[in-house]
Amino acid sequence: MRTLTRCFKYRLYPTTDQQTTLVQWAGCRRFVWNWALHCKQTHYQATGQRLSYQRLAAMLVDLKRQPKTAFLRDCHSQPLQQALMDLETSFTHFFAKRAKYPRFKSRKITPHSLRFPQGVAVVDERTISVPKIGHMQAIIHRPLMGIAKGATIKQDATGAWWVIFVCHIDLPDVQPTADRLVGIDVGLESFTTLSTGEKTAPPKFYRRNQKNLARAQRKLSRAQKGSNNRLKAKKRVARLHKKISNQRADWLHKHALRIVRQFDVVCIEDLNIKGLARTKLAKSFSDAALSTFMQMLHDKAEWHGRRVVKVGRFYASSKTCHFCHSKNALKLADRVWTCPTCSMTHDRDINAAINILYEGIRLLAVGTTESQNAARDGVNPAKRW
Ligand SMILES: [Zn+2]
Repeated sequence: MRTLTRCFKYRLYPTTDQQTTLVQWAGCRRFVWNWALHCKQTHYQATGQRLSYQRLAAMLVDLKRQPKTAFLRDCHSQPLQQALMDLETSFTHFFAKRAKYPRFKSRKITPHSLRFPQGVAVVDERTISVPKIGHMQAIIHRPLMGIAKGATIKQDATGAWWVIFVCHIDLPDVQPTADRLVGIDVGLESFTTLSTGEKTAPPKFYRRNQKNLARAQRKLSRAQKGSNNRLKAKKRVARLHKKISNQRADWLHKHALRIVRQFDVVCIEDLNIKGLARTKLAKSFSDAALSTFMQMLHDKAEWHGRRVVKVGRFYASSKTCHFCHSKNALKLADRVWTCPTCSMTHDRDINAAINILYEGIRLLAVGTTESQNAARDGVNPAKRW
């Protein structure tokens, strides 16, 4: 048996009163976060010691008793304790050099968000129940699976409310087969090129939407500050951002799922995403989508009992002739090239995909699904996705 963690996200339709309560609670949560961060900072400056979660939780009980901050008692206690825990996690990530120093949360830029470790439940296809609030209208478009380990209720930039359940799901073990293998080269011109020769171009809708977004952003920058028109323009920009990210996610989900269904073992280059995103072409679909695609491929493969083999990014997949294995000097512009050693003509991307497949097979034979580069970089392989 294997246990996977998956999120289930559903649209919420809180009533006006419920929205007011949620916004109030989110405000309380933000207040507690900022208060705790301030306590931690002053405590550290005074004593040089870390203020623990336990101490803070005790201090929070005290804070609620004081008349000035008695409004915190109107809020359910769980999201407030969770705020302290989240801050603790942020500090852990910071000390492990995985994240920046935790920041104070501003009312203006932080979306309203609340996390409940327990108590939020699905009632039926149209309803969830929330502690202290009761039933809330929702659209449960697919059934919840496994055991819910907490829920987050939040509002996005367009004003829509969502609930996200984190679930632990037990799945039976599958013996991975290795009958159908594929190598994938990812790039800018062709988003993916399979070793079978199949190329998939980045979707066309992306560019069109980028143009609309640019237009909306120009309108926003011209609108007068504090005006109603500015508010409207801001909403429009947020809606367009949301639309673009929805379309991108939808396209990527379908593309990743098709590959995972079609093949048992997927060999793919472990690209330096950050390095790529710094280039001039950072606006392109591929750059924005690549890391998400890798993550989706990994998750879907795990779900379907398939294997993903990551081939090191220093492996010369483009320059090596897959037929005679000689290395050649190539320019980025060389889409088609002829090997000087064996005179075979290659499509650059297909040749790379075949090489990635070969390297993947070699790694599988050695008994690893991870090339040595990850270890050499000193990064935990699990964090590289
Ligand atoms: Zn050759």
